[in-house]
Amino acid sequence: MPTLDEYIAEIAPLWESRWLTNMGEKHRELEEALKAYLGVHDVALYTNGHAALECALEALELGADGRCKVITTPFTFASTTHAIVRKGLVPVFADIKPDDYTIDPKSVEELVDEDTCAIVPVHVYGNLCDTDALREIADRYGLKVVYDAAHAFGVRQNGVSAAAFGDVSMFSFHATKVFNTIEGGALCFRDPELREKLNQWKNFGITGPESVEYVGGNAKMNEFCAAMGLCNLRHLDEEIAKRKAVAERYWENLRGVPGVKLCEPPSNVEHNYAYMPVVFDEGFGATRDDVFNALDKSNVGARKYFYPLVNDYACYRNDYSSEDTPIAKEAASCVLTLPMYADLACEDVDRICEVVRRCSR
Ligand SMILES: *Cc1c(COP(=O)(O)O)cnc(C)c1O
Repeated sequence: MPTLDEYIAEIAPLWESRWLTNMGEKHRELEEALKAYLGVHDVALYTNGHAALECALEALELGADGRCKVITTPFTFASTTHAIVRKGLVPVFADIKPDDYTIDPKSVEELVDEDTCAIVPVHVYGNLCDTDALREIADRYGLKVVYDAAHAFGVRQNGVSAAAFGDVSMFSFHATKVFNTIEGGALCFRDPELREKLNQWKNFGITGPESVEYVGGNAKMNEFCAAMGLCNLRHLDEEIAKRKAVAERYWENLRGVPGVKLCEPPSNVEHNYAYMPVVFDEGFGATRDDVFNALDKSNVGARKYFYPLVNDYACYRNDYSSEDTPIAKEAASCVLTLPMYADLACEDVDRICEVVRRCSR
C-alpha cells in the first residue's frame, strides 16, 4: 500500500469533481501511465482480471464461426478455465513444460483440430511462455492467442514487456498481485478496432447516448481503484527490487539442497519475483505436504499453488482427467509457494528455509 497521505492526496480531487466512476480522470491517467510503463499500444482497465479475461474472449468473438475449443493449461488459477467455460467455449487442456510450468507448445500442437479457435496460455509465476512457438502455431492454424498474464506484471524478456504478446494480454491488479489497484485488471492489445469494443463490452454494450449494440456486462474500474494504482505504480520499481533481494536470499538458502528444485529466471529476463515456487522431488526425503505441515506448525503460511489441478476440480473432473496432463499433475503434487513480499525480512527468510531444510532429515 502507498502511505495514507499519498492516497488521500490522490483522491482529494474526487471531492471536487464528484466523478466517482465511468472512465473519469484517474481512470484515464492510469491507462496512460500503464501504457508508458508497459510500453504497449493500448490498455483498457477493468474491475478485476477475471472480468477482463471474459471480456477479451467476448470481444474477439471466439466461437462466432462455430469453432468452440480453446487450448489452455490446467496448471493455473480457477479464473483462466472458468472464463473460457462461462463464455460458452470448451477448454482443452494441454500439458506444461517441467522446467518453467508454462504450457508446452508441443502438447498444444497435438491438440489443435478444426474446432479450435484460440489458445489461452498463462505466464505461470511470472515465467514467460514460449511466445514464439505459440505464435507460430497460432498463425499456422488461424487461432487467436489471449495470454493470462496475471502473474507477469513488470516482467520483461530481452527488454520486451510481458504485455506485448498475443492478440490480447490480461493482467490482474488484485490486492495479492505485485501491482494492485485493490481489485482491478487490464487488457493490453494492439488492434485499434478492439479499443471501442472492449470499452463498450465493459459498459453494458452501450455505444452511444441512445444506442446499445452488444449484450455487454459491467466491469468498469472506479476512480478510487485507479487512484490506488497511480500511487502504487510510483513505487513499483522499488517494490520489485525489494522482492528480488528476498528471492535471492531464498535461493542462497535453498540452492544445492538435494531434492529441491528452484525456479530462477534466465539472464535475459527482468523478473517481477511475484512468487517463490519450490518443488520437492523424491530426493528430498519428505513430501510437499510434509513441508507444508511443518511450515504451518511454525506459523508460516505457504501455499499449494497450484493444487489441485483445474482438471481435478469437482466442476470439471467428470469431463476431464488429470492423467492426460501428467507433467502438470506431477508439478501440482510437489510444488509449494513460500511467503514472498517486499518487506519480508532476511532473518524471516532464513528461519523459513531452516524449517524447510529440517524436513529432509
Ligand atoms: C489473480 C489471477 C486471475 C484473476 O484475477 P482477478 O483480478 O482476481 O480477477 C486470473 N488468472 C491468474 C493466473 C491469477 O493469478
